[in-house]
Parts: sequence; C-alpha cells; structure tokens
Amino acid sequence: MGHLIPLTELAHRLLLHRRLFITFIIPTATGSPVKPQNDILNAMPENISSIFLPPVDLNDIPEDAALETRIILTLTRSLPALRQTLTELTGESIRKRPSALVVDLFGPPSFEIAKELNIPAYLFCTVSAMSLVSIFHIPIFDQMYDCEYKDLPEPVRLPGCVPVHGANMPEPLQDKKNDAYVGVVESSKMFSLAKGVLVNSFLELEPGPFKAMEEGDWCKPKIYPVGPLIRSGSENQTGEGFECLKWLDEHPVGSVLFVSFGSGGTLSQQQLDELAFGLEQSGQRFIWVVKSPHGHGKSHTSYFSVESHLDPFGFLPEGFLGRVEGRGLVVSSWAPQVEILSHGSTGGFLTHCGWNSILESVVCGVPMIAWPLYAEQKMNAVLLTNGLGVAHRVEVDENGVVGRDEIDKCVRSLIEGEDGRKSRLKISELKALAAEALSPDGSSTSSLLDVAQIWCN
Ligand code: UDP
Repeated sequence: MGHLIPLTELAHRLLLHRRLFITFIIPTATGSPVKPQNDILNAMPENISSIFLPPVDLNDIPEDAALETRIILTLTRSLPALRQTLTELTGESIRKRPSALVVDLFGPPSFEIAKELNIPAYLFCTVSAMSLVSIFHIPIFDQMYDCEYKDLPEPVRLPGCVPVHGANMPEPLQDKKNDAYVGVVESSKMFSLAKGVLVNSFLELEPGPFKAMEEGDWCKPKIYPVGPLIRSGSENQTGEGFECLKWLDEHPVGSVLFVSFGSGGTLSQQQLDELAFGLEQSGQRFIWVVKSPHGHGKSHTSYFSVESHLDPFGFLPEGFLGRVEGRGLVVSSWAPQVEILSHGSTGGFLTHCGWNSILESVVCGVPMIAWPLYAEQKMNAVLLTNGLGVAHRVEVDENGVVGRDEIDKCVRSLIEGEDGRKSRLKISELKALAAEALSPDGSSTSSLLDVAQIWCN
C-alpha cells in the first residue's frame, strides 16, 4: 500500500495536466491481500486501468525470510507474466504502444523486458531523496566496506545528506549474509539503467540530496522531484473511520497524539504493553491504531503474517480501555490517517517513519515522535531529527524495548513541551513549502510537466 498509494496519486496528478492512459500492472503472491489494492484501483477514473498478474507461489520460502526477499521474489517470478502483458499491450496498435514503463523500487529487474520491447524505463521512488542517494551508493559501499554497517567506526557520509550511523542504514543492508542484502545490492545496480527517476519528495525539503544527485557522476538517470504526493484524504467518511473524526471534533485544537505504525508495522507483546502504559501514564489524549503483536523473535511487519488476522484488542493490558476512556480512542488495525492528520485537534504523530506517513505529516504540519521499525525507517528518523528538526526519536533500551517512562516523556514533551513547540514551528514552515512545491508554478509541478511532456511526445 505504501507504494501503490503514491503511485496512484502520481497517476491522478499526471491526468490533471496531460491526456494519458495509465495501466497499473501488479504482481501478486499467494495469500497477499489484494482487496485493499482493488478498492483503491476500482476508484480510479476511466483513463486508469489495472491488471493483476497471476499470483506466484512463495511456499518454498522460509517462514522467516526478509520482507525484501519476498517482494523481490514476487517480482522476479512474475517477470514471464509481465513480459507477456507488456508484449500484448505493445502489439495492440502503434497508438497504444506504451510511451514509458514506470516501476517502483522493487521493479528494476523488469528493465530488461522494457529494453527488449523498446519501452523507455523510469523509476518512481517512494522513499526520500536521501534514501535514493543511499541506493546509488549501495554498490559502491559493497566494494568499500568489508564489515557490517553497524560496525563502521565513523558515520556514513552520503553526499548532500545528514551523516548516518551505520546501524541506521536501511534494514536489508544490516546482515551481509542474508539473501535480502544480495538482492538489494543487485537491484541497486540496476537503478542506473533507468532513463529517469521520479522522486516522491520536493526540492525545498531535501535540497542537499537533490543537488548531490544532479552533480554526482554516480547518478546517471535524470532526477524529477514530484512530491509530496499523498492521498487526498476524502475517502473513509463512513464507519469506524468517520467515528475517529467525530471523536476528534470533541477535543481541543492540537491536543491529540495520533499513534500508528503504518500499514504493516507491528510490535511485540511486551512492547505493546509498554506503549499502552506509557500512553496511559502521559495523561495526554490519543488515537492509537493498534495491531495484533508479532510472535516472539518475528519481524516488525505483518504484511505476510497470520497474526495480523487476530483481534488486536485482546492483546491490550487488562482494564486499559476503561482507564483511558474519554481521552484515548483505540482503533483496530486501520484508520483514515490523512483525515486524522489534517484535523485541527491532532497535535502530534507517533510514527514508524514510513516515508508516506512522514510526507503526510509534513503536508498537514504535524510534528512527530520517530519510532522507526524496519526498511529504511531508521534513516528517515535521522533525517527528521538531525536533518529537519521536526521530530524527537524514542530511545530504545538495552533489551530493544521502548519503556513506558520514555514514551510518557516523549508524548508530554511533544504535545505540551518546549521541544514540541519548536518542532511545530519548523514543520509549519515545511508545510508552506510543500504547498508551494505543488502549486501551478511550483518546483514539483514543473518537474512533473517536464517528464509528462517527454511521455506525450
Ligand atoms: N495508512 C492509513 N491508515 C492506517 C495505516 C496506514 O491510511 O491505519 C496509510 C498511510 O496514510 C500511508 C500508508 O498507509 O499513506 C502507509 O505508508 P508508509 O510509507 O507510511 O508506511 P508503510 O505502511 O509502507 O510501512
């Protein structure tokens, strides 16, 4: 969803400016959730159509395989079906010949097919410009460093970016013996084969990385900053989602903390307890999107897990819901995030630092507590704290847990403390810059028009 949502927004924005026909081609794996994707795609205007490729079988993959390995395999095993689909589209008529293939971060293995069929290949980068700089450097660092990233004595200095401790580099890079590492290194090498990369960020948010990509000889494709592309947030006006907004209406401006770990982020049972007690102890108002905890030693994501189907309320500490009644609203698994962040009563966002969540918070001017879990989220947390000064990062103790006192402190400081006030000021400046970037003469609009013009020609 974190890739599909911004891609559909990109499609919408392209159609605002140019008459194009857009087809989404979506690889799937057995057991992966197709319904939420379908809901989004079915709501598209008629110039946008979608094709789900036949599900690939991942039953031979070990249960503990990394998320990245599963996604990469879903894509590579779908390549024959993708070739067939693209060949059919290309063969239909000259008029219908695709003018570009735009893939997401996991899509570069399909560039070979695009080349065979003579279709220019582009990437849509659903992560920050800083993360994109890191992707271009993965093959270089692979040659340079023998040790694990976390053991590097000095912070990693990516051109134009805030320095990052090796342990904060993206998760699939953290274990060189894991298949995910090899997969990511191989995939990163292919990024240079793209004709252009559209980035869901904007010049004014990340001037350093964009300048570095323009100047560095390590960056071959043309870079187009086109963000922030976030869901417009007009859906979900019914049911539980609507209840959240009604609930927010009853609370003072800037007083509610929104707590969510994205579409797939999960915590352990111990961590879930600490979070519940920390929120309770803080005495602050909150909306918490709670998901069932992951099993012992399992990863922080529920994209492919069985646990995500269990009722999350059953895992909350006894009596918790009663004790926070009136000032805390707990929602099961999914909430209308954009609508909540744009509501005046929301004063802070405790986030897992997924890039879409960050952009949504920037667009709505809501300061954050950074609680990164997986993927490139720790790197995003460094950008938010050391780079942009719009978030405070939670401290994880020696057992890998964020304790209730730490949570209590961070929440109070964000909603009513000096740190929160400073972050709020900073993020309201970024909010204005984001609106400007998307305005008719803004930097992202002109960049989008540049690439759209190439496709129309
Ligand atoms: N989202 C939402 N409601 C939820 C959880 C997530 O609407 O309860 C949306 C959120 O607004 C964002 C996307 O799902 O657009 C999550 O993307 P992100 O990059 O933040 O994290 P990911 O889920 O990919 O880790």
